[in-house]
Amino acid sequence: MRLLLSSQIARTLLSLSSRAMSSSSYKSLLREKAFVNGQWVNAANGESFPVYNPANGELVCKVPDMGAADATAAIAHAQVAFEAWRGKTPSQRAALLHSWERLIQDRCEDLAALMTLENGKPLAESRGEVAYGASFIRWFAEEGIRVTGQTLQGPTPDKRIFTLKQPQGVCGMITPWNFPAAMITRKAGAALAAGCTVVIKPAEDTPLTALALCQLAADALLPPGALNVVTCSRSRAAEVGRVLTTDPAVKHVSFTGSTDTGKLLLAQASSTVKRVTMELGGNAPFIVFDSADVDKAVAGLIQAKFRNTGQTCVCPNRIFLQRRVSQKFLAKLCERVAEMKVGDGFEAGTQLGPLINAAAESKLERLLADAKQRGGRVLAGGQSVKVGSGAGHFFQPTVVSGLGRDSACFREEIFGPLVAAFEFDSEADVVELANDCRVGLAGYFYSADVGQCWRVAEQLNVGMVGVNESMVSSCIAPFGGWNESGLGSESGVGYGIEEYLNLKTVVLNLA
Ligand code: NAP
Repeated sequence: MRLLLSSQIARTLLSLSSRAMSSSSYKSLLREKAFVNGQWVNAANGESFPVYNPANGELVCKVPDMGAADATAAIAHAQVAFEAWRGKTPSQRAALLHSWERLIQDRCEDLAALMTLENGKPLAESRGEVAYGASFIRWFAEEGIRVTGQTLQGPTPDKRIFTLKQPQGVCGMITPWNFPAAMITRKAGAALAAGCTVVIKPAEDTPLTALALCQLAADALLPPGALNVVTCSRSRAAEVGRVLTTDPAVKHVSFTGSTDTGKLLLAQASSTVKRVTMELGGNAPFIVFDSADVDKAVAGLIQAKFRNTGQTCVCPNRIFLQRRVSQKFLAKLCERVAEMKVGDGFEAGTQLGPLINAAAESKLERLLADAKQRGGRVLAGGQSVKVGSGAGHFFQPTVVSGLGRDSACFREEIFGPLVAAFEFDSEADVVELANDCRVGLAGYFYSADVGQCWRVAEQLNVGMVGVNESMVSSCIAPFGGWNESGLGSESGVGYGIEEYLNLKTVVLNLA
């Protein structure tokens, strides 16, 4: 009894100390104004919108609800800044980017607390995202130094040809709430290293991490106008988005978000033929073959599926289990799922934070109702969870089996902690099932058969494949989707930075 009490007290103290740390430390980076041309500014219309903590529904602060005029002004400042920024040597730009990256790493605890506050993800995951986000800035600082062109033979004796790669200009960027830091650094790091300047519209739910990154960029002495953040509410996203995708001064639109929004922005960007990078939605297959190491596959699924409460674009969405291994896999999965802790991201030991908002919870309930109606069996979870005041949107990690191709979980991106399991018989069947999809971002499979590993990796119509591995993203590897999952690549050797460079051919006459 005494042992039990002392462990309860220890847990409470741990959780209180983590709350105390988080609530005091993030304030030094909390900014309630937008960042344009190196200045903290209000919206021209004087309006603001609220930012809430998704774990308890409490108001964190308000930030400017900017509109078209603010976006146009930010682009004009970024255009002026571009003329000077492009003139710096790549090494000068790299030095500033390295300083920015170091400050981000130094302030990891504060940034992580701010991220958990506005996004809800467990503090440990937020810390991981800060490090992951910083890695892109370091990577691109180094990529920028190594941009090269070609020297070519001329078609006649008096000619020589060479190529130059030059920065495109002002880049408009629109980012989602699920990775409030990394989706910004993966884009802005590349563009800035290439010599471009940027205007970013972060998601309504998570503007605070974006603004904190601006403070650290200013501390690192990035020149005014190189990095600008225009905040706005969901009701003004279309207005600001239209400016970023149609203003002739913007030469590149980089977007991460849903496929539907991506298509709209692509159409708008076509009016001035801008370069585009589109990182859109996924519906990742996760295949477990009979020969797989089941414990490894279960661990891989837990890691990839429940990160950020299942709200990532590369989350396994359709879990395909070969018939002989299916029951064993599901039994082990349900054991692990039963141990997972749902709670406030600041509470020690929390593995699943809240869903981002009420709409996300409603979507999950709709997908679950559809699964049940089509004969799916709920093997674990299946309910929302009340945490604290009850104002947050928490959901149990849930496992449903016995689903078919007609289910909504097969067709739609789930974006929540719901494992939807399907059975299959042969390799050919599962490749066909996995590719029965209009998007193609990530795919995963577990198999001990080397020949099968080669074949299936080649046959999946996706941009990234994890073979006996469920973490596919790093600054080193190109990140991008096929088909309706997007256009272009972020990160990787050459690919990410090339997105922001124009290719120029110079033909020199020697005569
Ligand atoms: P979303 O609704 O498309 O929103 C993403 C961003 O676009 C937000 O900043 C949003 O602003 C803005 N936006 C929405 N409508 C707009 C419009 N008409 N004009 C201009 N901007 C507009 O996506 P989400 O639901 O937040 O994010 C989840 C989706 O992103 C999933 O499909 C996920 O797979 C995808 N995603 C993809 C990747 C990748 O790398 N491929 C990474 C992460 C997420 P508001 O916040 O104000 O609505």
